[in-house]
Amino acid sequence: MRGSERHRRAAGDRRIVEVLILTEGKETCAPCGRCRQQLAEFARPDARIHLCGPEGLRATTTLGELLPLAFGPDALGHPKP
Ligand SMILES: [Zn+2]
Repeated sequence: MRGSERHRRAAGDRRIVEVLILTEGKETCAPCGRCRQQLAEFARPDARIHLCGPEGLRATTTLGELLPLAFGPDALGHPKP
């Protein structure tokens, strides 16, 4: 069993639909490459990613915008949850 399939089963085949990232810094902080890949294994491209600072929401994007042509369960023949 590959890692992504194992992770998916461990999560009970649940799907992430929304993520909020909060940083104290002045620059907007988007998820790093590793986080984007892990999100791609549990979320669809239309999952909303909210980028926030202490003052509130700075930007909203989607996983598909952050990681186009992502490798995920579909590439292995397993439909996304
Ligand atoms: Zn990360």
